[in-house]
Amino acid sequence: MTAPVPAPAARVSAAAAARAAAAAAPARPNLFDHDRNGLRALFVQLGEQPWRADQVMKWVYHRHVTDFAQMSDIGKALQHKLAQSIDIVPPNTIFEKQASDGTHKWLLGMDGGNAIEAVFIPETSRGTLCVSSQVGCALACQFCSTGAQGFNRNLSAAEITGQVWIAARHLGNVPHHQRKLTNVVMMGMGEPLLNFDNVVTAMSVMRDDLGFGLANKRVTLSTAGLVPMIDRLGEVADVSLAVSLHAPNDELRSELMPINRKYPIQALLDACVRYTQRRPRTTITFEYTMLKGVNDQPAHARQLIKLMRKVPSKVNLIPFNSFHGTQFERSDETVIRAFQKLLLDAGVLTMVRRTRGDDIDAACGQLKGQVVDRTRRQQEFRRRLEGGAVDAA
Ligand code: SAH
Repeated sequence: MTAPVPAPAARVSAAAAARAAAAAAPARPNLFDHDRNGLRALFVQLGEQPWRADQVMKWVYHRHVTDFAQMSDIGKALQHKLAQSIDIVPPNTIFEKQASDGTHKWLLGMDGGNAIEAVFIPETSRGTLCVSSQVGCALACQFCSTGAQGFNRNLSAAEITGQVWIAARHLGNVPHHQRKLTNVVMMGMGEPLLNFDNVVTAMSVMRDDLGFGLANKRVTLSTAGLVPMIDRLGEVADVSLAVSLHAPNDELRSELMPINRKYPIQALLDACVRYTQRRPRTTITFEYTMLKGVNDQPAHARQLIKLMRKVPSKVNLIPFNSFHGTQFERSDETVIRAFQKLLLDAGVLTMVRRTRGDDIDAACGQLKGQVVDRTRRQQEFRRRLEGGAVDAA
């Protein structure tokens, strides 16, 4: 083996040297990657007082200012130092679109041709933002368009918090005064519990008075059911939990959601009980997508009722939202109502989720962004589609 001959120093151009130095230098921290404690620690590292971090957070999250030079209660010298040391960079908006019902969707560009989606759903008494946690999803739930796209990577905390910031700025949201964004649900693209640390950091900014100032129970994490991570979440964060159930027995659930083979229903419900035991008066929301002829029969309702007796719970029935290539169909309205009635009559609090934003593909399970798939799932899905194993819609 021959050793590479180093180029003589004189031949390295100044531009190349600058490029090399930039590549070698650590990237500047992005403010959106830090919750209050993390930002205070960063300020201390810079030789500054931790309360300065609190001042900056108010500018960023309450007034949507990202330029240190505009932070008028901070002296010029410190403004300059901070501008040299910390970036404040939200994700880049590729496009945004508003549906006829007021639902607003953002397509946000990530690196390497990837994009994710965030959706704001206004209602009379509240405004809910649906936030993504990953580029794509690795869990391959059969009825979910994100699942069909495969997985690329976790979002950083900055990319998660940045979604909320972009929506808050668009809405002119000011915590405790102009409160337009009242709820955040981690129900966009991805499985939040597989991006645990970044999701926990972002949820801490959502619930911080210096951040978006949301009440704990108004931040909801939705999971496909990663049992050990539900326990971990219970230890570190006080947020509402939603669980994607979608089937009332293991046989069907394992078919629809491969994760069930690892964490079957009983183990999942036990974890939910442990989660509620840490917080008196908490209920778990169970999401149940209504799939025509698959999970919507009275026998399924009766099985579901038995399961719901084991956990303080409520059920959210979600009419299936179609996407290209899916084999599933939405249950008929009458079937959904009859299913709901069976549950209600048995004393299980059950809501039917109104489908919002479907004219801009912003409804549950329709978010697909742009995923540069590293799992080849999309390729496999297309192959099955072309081979007729999946019926085209
Ligand atoms: N991975 C997390 C969060 C993302 S999905 C989870 O599984 O909970 C948010 C909710 O929308 C989940 O309950 C999901 O199962 C549901 N969903 C997915 N695809 C859907 C579709 N096509 N129609 C209706 N709901 C869907």
